[in-house]
Amino acid sequence: MRYISTRGQSPAISFADMLLAGLAPDGGLYLPETWPSFTPAEIAAFKGKPYTDVAEAVLGKLIGDSFTPEELRADIAAAYASFDFPAIAPLSEIGRGRYLMELYHGPTLAFKDVALQILGRLFARALKARGGRATVLAATSGDTGSAAIAALGGLENIEVIVLHPKGRVSEVQRRQMTTAPFANVHNIAIEGTFDDGQAIVKALFAETDFAEAVNLTAVNSINFARIAAQAVYYFTAAAELGVAPVFVVPTGNFGDVFAGEAAMRMGLAVEKLVVATNSNDIMARALNEGVYASGKASPTLSPSMDIQVASNFERALFEASGRDSAFVRDAMARFVKDSRLELPPAVLADLRTRYEAKRTDDAATLATIARFERETGRLIDPHTAVALAAAYDANFGEKVPVVVLSTAHPAKFPDAVNHATNRIPELPPRLTAALQGEEKCHVMRAEKALVRGFIEAILRPS
Ligand SMILES: *Cc1c(COP(=O)(O)O)cnc(C)c1O
Repeated sequence: MRYISTRGQSPAISFADMLLAGLAPDGGLYLPETWPSFTPAEIAAFKGKPYTDVAEAVLGKLIGDSFTPEELRADIAAAYASFDFPAIAPLSEIGRGRYLMELYHGPTLAFKDVALQILGRLFARALKARGGRATVLAATSGDTGSAAIAALGGLENIEVIVLHPKGRVSEVQRRQMTTAPFANVHNIAIEGTFDDGQAIVKALFAETDFAEAVNLTAVNSINFARIAAQAVYYFTAAAELGVAPVFVVPTGNFGDVFAGEAAMRMGLAVEKLVVATNSNDIMARALNEGVYASGKASPTLSPSMDIQVASNFERALFEASGRDSAFVRDAMARFVKDSRLELPPAVLADLRTRYEAKRTDDAATLATIARFERETGRLIDPHTAVALAAAYDANFGEKVPVVVLSTAHPAKFPDAVNHATNRIPELPPRLTAALQGEEKCHVMRAEKALVRGFIEAILRPS
């Protein structure tokens, strides 16, 4: 199993090399050279199996010979031992063929843990085998940062630099990052948006002598290992339901919903993937109007989706164009130049066979949190609410189960939840430490030279 770049100008590499690199040197994103696949019978047999068994089966087909089956098994077991529920991604019925898939039972209480807990372990293993050091640079809209810190904090030979947009993450999210007690973790609050942070990360990768000198790597969802790990819960949910479901996915960077496409390409029957956005609706506009055009991200109640450049859409475009890397190169160059890309009709039509999209603003997000609390007595976070609002609206008929991905614990966003319901979500014990520790964070203008200088300074032997 080898990995190729969506832009077609980087050599094919192994899973371990892809994992350690993150972004391809030609600026593209890695995907498997050919998708492995499961038969319907193999997928049906996942029903009732422990989550870790399904993870071994799915990841086992994607890692090639980068790790032995025993190494993979050990890392999966350790990764998911850190979750509160052995089911890892439990489904609960919320009435009339609708289900909530709870993905927030990991150490930092958002779905990012599902991928980063395993990614961190495989990463450390691959780095040890290769030798040397690595610099992990992550731009976060709020949840990737703490999940990366929980996965990589305290590890040897890895420096972790996390950029978050100053003042645009919730207090709990910020404290989860800035109170981390690890010497190898460095938080930077940049004066800008998530998109500014993501652009700095990509620009520093493009400075290849710097990137090579510090062994720069990315654990954002541009790293395919994350997509691979997230594909697993699409399999477990569909196998449990026994019929092709609709998945409604609260979407920012398009990583989680693309993991659904990855599962489909590996043989999973899915009725539709519904892309649910907040008012930062670049993906809803792209799929509904055929124009992928970014504006300035504006703050919402679901900050982890305040994104106006959905990096993983490049993967979907590559697939929808029949893996035409010349088209992807041209399309991405045009998007960088004009902040706008008209999707060719054939590409758009292909995307629409898999995807639908729906936008929900803050008022409707609050109304959905309130309605769900009234109807079920349960609290959900604002990101989940964006998806649930889309699910309330969707009409796929009685026989099609609709699975809403619940991506964060409501206690991460107590203000929004309280505003909607007059109830303050109970704080899980995992959060108490984060709320009490001392905060450490550097504030910086959103300039790549400043971030580069910061990284050079921490790596310079003193
Ligand atoms: C990251 C995140 C999302 C968006 O996921 P993408 O893979 O970026 O589309 C949604 N909800 C929560 C809580 C998140 O942390």
